[in-house]
Amino acid sequence: MSDDAVQLSQVRVAYGRSRALDGLSLSVPRGAVLGLVGSNGAGKTTALCAMAGLLTPSEGRIDLLGLGPFDAAQHAGRVSLLPQDAQLPPHARAGQLLRYYARLQGMPASDMTAGVNSLLERVHLADRAQSAVRTLSHGMAQRLAIAQAFLGAPELVLLDEPLNGLDPLEVKRMREFLRAKPGNQTIVISSHLLDAVEAVCDEVAFIEKGRRVRQAGIEVLMRRDSTLTMRLEGTVPLADIQSALDGSGATVELSETGLRLHATTPMTAGDLNAVVLPLLLEHDVRILEITRGSSLEDQY
Ligand code: ATP
Repeated sequence: MSDDAVQLSQVRVAYGRSRALDGLSLSVPRGAVLGLVGSNGAGKTTALCAMAGLLTPSEGRIDLLGLGPFDAAQHAGRVSLLPQDAQLPPHARAGQLLRYYARLQGMPASDMTAGVNSLLERVHLADRAQSAVRTLSHGMAQRLAIAQAFLGAPELVLLDEPLNGLDPLEVKRMREFLRAKPGNQTIVISSHLLDAVEAVCDEVAFIEKGRRVRQAGIEVLMRRDSTLTMRLEGTVPLADIQSALDGSGATVELSETGLRLHATTPMTAGDLNAVVLPLLLEHDVRILEITRGSSLEDQY
């Protein structure tokens, strides 16, 4: 069995003359939360629609869970999709709506109540089970829409812009919700909200003009193990720091945002600290803040 839950190889999709996916290749390891990041029109929605079988590529190959391209007979109940800007029926009640979707999905009646109640709990909507959708805030409705994609714990969940419009607290809750995913569940999230992707994904694929330009684990992208930024007060002994790091391959840069240090393997951020901190203290430089890694925005 392949270690990837999703494999796209050289996928092309065109809308008339416009090429939305232009040879997109992508793989999502089983159990990963992958962020699909790109600017407006990069092809994120088209990629998710192609994965979910809503669009048929003119070229290329798609494989979901090692069973080939989306096929209802094979993938029903194992793959789910939250479409972009999903609109829920305004007069339905939250719990009733999830039970309705669960029934459509073929969930056995004996599991339905427990399954729905547990999902409502997990998205912090247990106390709103009886509320009509139209009375929910945007963030609550969004959480309810996300919950429907998780009914029956599908192995692969595709979420198109699920984080849009969520405030920081909601993003934090979403991160907890996603982190608590059962077992080896794989999740693909499209978004251009880099902070949110940073918070919830463990791998990121950047796509532009229908192609993947880069894919890596979040730790690698954000260089958490190798980069430090220090906000300092006082006269930084730059020449001393440079000479102490000479030959190590580490780079040092002093800018308005502070002292930025980048180590190359085998040196780590911890090793950088061990060299630089004594020099700063010796020169009476005050250390106001130390940040590990760079932001996803920098990488983007
Ligand atoms: P956004 O972040 O704005 O949602 P996206 O990355 O999801 O963008 P897509 O919606 O996949 O991008 O669009 C990719 C390209 O395909 C764009 O150039 C877009 O104009 C085009 N496109 C998308 N849907 C259609 C359609 N139904 N008809 C024609 N062109 C389309």
